[in-house]
Amino acid sequence: MAATKTAILSVYDKAGLLDLAKGLTKNNVRLLASGGTARLIREAGFDVEDVSAITHAPEMLSGRVKTLHPAVHAGILARDSASDEKDLADQNINKVDYVICNLYPFKQKIAQINVTIPEAVEEIDIGGVTLLRAAAKNHTRVTILSDPMDYPDFLQELDRGEITEASRNLYALKAFEHTADYDAAISDFFRKKYAGDGKQHLSLRYGENPHQKPASAFMRGEDLPFRVLCGSPGYINLLDSLNAWPLVKELRKALNFPAAASFKHVSPAGAAIGVPLSEVERKVYMVDDIDGLAESGLAQAYARARGADRMSSFGDLIALSDKVDVPTAKIISREVSDGVIAPDYDSEALEILKKKKGGKYLILQMNESYKPPSQETRTVYGVQLSQARNDVEIHPGETFASVVRPKNSRSLPDAALRDLTVATITAKFIQSNSVALSLNGQVIGLGAGQQSRIHCTRLAGDKADNWWMRFHERALNLKWKKGIKRPDKSNAIDMLCSGQVPRASGIEKEAFENNFEEVPQPFTEQEREAWLSKLSEVALSSDAFFPFTDNVFRAARSGVKYIAAPSGSQNDQAVFDTADKLGITFVEQSTRLFHH
Ligand code: 5GP
Repeated sequence: MAATKTAILSVYDKAGLLDLAKGLTKNNVRLLASGGTARLIREAGFDVEDVSAITHAPEMLSGRVKTLHPAVHAGILARDSASDEKDLADQNINKVDYVICNLYPFKQKIAQINVTIPEAVEEIDIGGVTLLRAAAKNHTRVTILSDPMDYPDFLQELDRGEITEASRNLYALKAFEHTADYDAAISDFFRKKYAGDGKQHLSLRYGENPHQKPASAFMRGEDLPFRVLCGSPGYINLLDSLNAWPLVKELRKALNFPAAASFKHVSPAGAAIGVPLSEVERKVYMVDDIDGLAESGLAQAYARARGADRMSSFGDLIALSDKVDVPTAKIISREVSDGVIAPDYDSEALEILKKKKGGKYLILQMNESYKPPSQETRTVYGVQLSQARNDVEIHPGETFASVVRPKNSRSLPDAALRDLTVATITAKFIQSNSVALSLNGQVIGLGAGQQSRIHCTRLAGDKADNWWMRFHERALNLKWKKGIKRPDKSNAIDMLCSGQVPRASGIEKEAFENNFEEVPQPFTEQEREAWLSKLSEVALSSDAFFPFTDNVFRAARSGVKYIAAPSGSQNDQAVFDTADKLGITFVEQSTRLFHH
């Protein structure tokens, strides 16, 4: 009986091939195959023709051209239309119904050590990709098998008569994914070879931990949006940089001030705009000896961002919104820090920074005009997660226009709008749950990454209290021993201000006291309370609603007078009313800002 259907077989992976040939033959399908595939089928005793039976052309160029021919591709791509039928008849070409193809092992080849470019090039399949794509394109009529695992199901259906539309659709999808994955492997290989390390692709020493190798950062189809001017970034440095940069960019745009952020473990430790520093702030932030500070908005922004929580900022990754000047570089040069990202650097500032860490300080120059795509995708445990980027813009006006308590209240003071903006933009880039407290254009305390919101609020409140205790006369006038380093001073100040100085004598107390020429008295409860009661006008932003009133109570204890948070809790009314009773203005900020 003459065959009614035709299959083209061209497979590198010959698994399951003979069972397939047997099943196709049983169903009276004409088999056409490329060289090696035909040989194997023939040797097993099945009838098979070489593709040249229809192309009338031999395989050429050592296999580079095997199936690339109109007789093959017109046979695959033809539809059941009169015009296509006529074209085929004019050229004496028969339709192809089934294509079975898988590709040269490019991935395995490039996984070999020291593979050369010519070796890799030879593993780039041309005709196979064309077979797959042509058959997948015409899947309303043609069945494309690209995975040997699919042969048994295919044969079962064939035995029943027809390959269903549902199966053809799924086989086509698989073929498209097969070629996409193959092309991605090829472009990844050549990106590493040709794009030059640092332009489109950056090799990283390791991932989050030293055993996570290999690691890299790369872009598809365009250059990385930053250049490495000094040092070599680690994986976490880039996670920090690429979160910190949009934070300062947004702050800069929303408030029209230079902005800075100090990041650790993908959350800010501090963030600020360059509101002029008072004399006492300069002292608390340890920048009172920096020349040109008062003239540099950027330096003041970083002094605030770094000064908020000096302990947490130890070893930070800094983001700066503006061209880095000498005063800013001078502040950075004497702090322990991992790196900085900024749009540009004064040449003198760059020289100062390049001397840090024995010449290994990480300096990234960000392309200010870079716009990330609106859709972002990441892989978690092998699963692709895709979402629209959180590109909601926070405006000091519109975002905080909906004041729910006190009722009929007038608009908020400018300083409150500024500080709510700082807190809310910062919250957008804190690992959730998040609560940020701000004052004077800077974050003064934040709680990040806690599973319970009240724990975030407590952390943020405790940090803000600690920050404010540093302005107490006793903390301002500490008599240090000679040679005590800045980080050690910060740690000792933190112990004193957070009430952690041990009461009982012992080596911990001794270690603390060893920092001082004159040992400071710990603060008594009464002293703390009296001083903390002077903290006021603080703004708070929360990345999601307050489920309970406890958050509002805790916020009030740290001088919070303005809260911006989304609503949506069953307890909304109680939360609003509690704020009202405590003299807090509650603004409904309608966008939830989770960040993970
Ligand atoms: P065979 O073992 O049959 O000689 O070769 C099978 C392989 O050749 C399959 O992996 C298939 O994707 C690939 N192939 C089929 N046609 C062409 C062609 O025209 N050019 C190239 N370079 N590869 C082809």
